[in-house]
Amino acid sequence: MHDHRRRVPGTDRVLEEPQVALAAVRLGQERVKQAIRSAQQQARDGGIEPEQVVETVLAGLPESAACLRHVLNATGVLLHTNLGRAPLSEAAVRALVGAAGTTDVELDLSTGQRGPRGAAAMAALLDAVPSAEAAHVVNNGAAALALAATALAQGREIVVARGEMVEIGDGFRLPDLLASTGARLREVGTTNRVHLEDYRAALGPDTGFVLKVHPSNFVISGFTSSVPVAELSGLDAPLVVDIGSGLLGPHPVLTEEPDATTPLGQGADLVTASGDKLLGGPQAGLLLGRKDTVHRLRRHPLARALRVDKLTLAALEATVGGPITPTERSLRQTPAELLNRAERITEVLAGAGLAATSRPTSAAVGGGGAPGVELPSAAVVLPQRFAGRLRAGNPPVLARVERGHCVLDLYALAPEDEDDLIRAILAVED
Ligand SMILES: *Cc1c(COP(=O)(O)O)cnc(C)c1O
Repeated sequence: MHDHRRRVPGTDRVLEEPQVALAAVRLGQERVKQAIRSAQQQARDGGIEPEQVVETVLAGLPESAACLRHVLNATGVLLHTNLGRAPLSEAAVRALVGAAGTTDVELDLSTGQRGPRGAAAMAALLDAVPSAEAAHVVNNGAAALALAATALAQGREIVVARGEMVEIGDGFRLPDLLASTGARLREVGTTNRVHLEDYRAALGPDTGFVLKVHPSNFVISGFTSSVPVAELSGLDAPLVVDIGSGLLGPHPVLTEEPDATTPLGQGADLVTASGDKLLGGPQAGLLLGRKDTVHRLRRHPLARALRVDKLTLAALEATVGGPITPTERSLRQTPAELLNRAERITEVLAGAGLAATSRPTSAAVGGGGAPGVELPSAAVVLPQRFAGRLRAGNPPVLARVERGHCVLDLYALAPEDEDDLIRAILAVED
């Protein structure tokens, strides 16, 4: 026993092992030392052999110093809020890494003077939305609305249709957010119908602005009516339009989804949107519109509390002015391509002795965009018991459970991730 304990290698010796030394560079000394102490204790207690200390340390250390893990999205929900919504494009990831050091985010290199923050990202947005005179970016869509409400309607009224008082998720409600800024909500119309006259009758000296919100996560159908932007912009009050999803221009597939260019062209003063929904970029809140309106927002003290960092600005610029995003690539897949992908995966699994089937499915945009729109997709189908195991696997895979089956929908899964998906499935097979 005494001899066994003497054979347990000391901390410094374990740290000198090349792979352990590399891990210390990647994760920090303290984290690795903790793992070493725990493995040494296991060896002293006889749980492992002294010779197994190094391999035990290595097996217990994570790949990266951050805990957020890459998860494969096989849910068939394109923008899954719990999975961080839009995955960034390769170009955006590069831009983000490139901006991680010191940058010219607020410096004009030609003069050496302080420059407008994130000027390149703003220019990219204005290029993409020709009807906008100015742009500003904040932390997220909710922050964009909060800033607009604070700067334009604090102590005054926001006139909004009753049918557009949306709960965005996780218990957060737009009316509560707006009221928290010190603006008063003036609801007009009924749940299902509102008319231009309703808005007009509510306007007065206390009006801050009229707000039109895209009901981005539900649909009401039947006896309904709402007032289009082109009519609201004729009212004698500023008009703010919350489009939600962040499409900059009309979309060929999601034809019913509002975009930023159209309402501004129809006379809206300001559009607010998220960066990480259909735009396919980083979490951000976009504010686009008239120069004087955007300037008021930018100069408001709250703007400083909501401002975005250089990483967001870099990723946003690379998304707006860059190559096709993974989100857009998903939207452009044909049902036949998706079924081919499912069949290929099923064949590889069959080759490894695992019986799976493939079939057409229906995916959704999710995450506050295109409610009710069914996107034709395809899936690999396995017995239900796979769902829980895959979620706990490496990398974790999130599937959908449907009528006793584990359905792996390929709509939101990047083709580059298919081999990882296959490996993850085979690793949890019984
Ligand atoms: C998603 C959404 C928001 C909130 O945006 P976040 O970026 O999640 O803060 C606000 N309004 C609408 C219409 C939305 O769809």
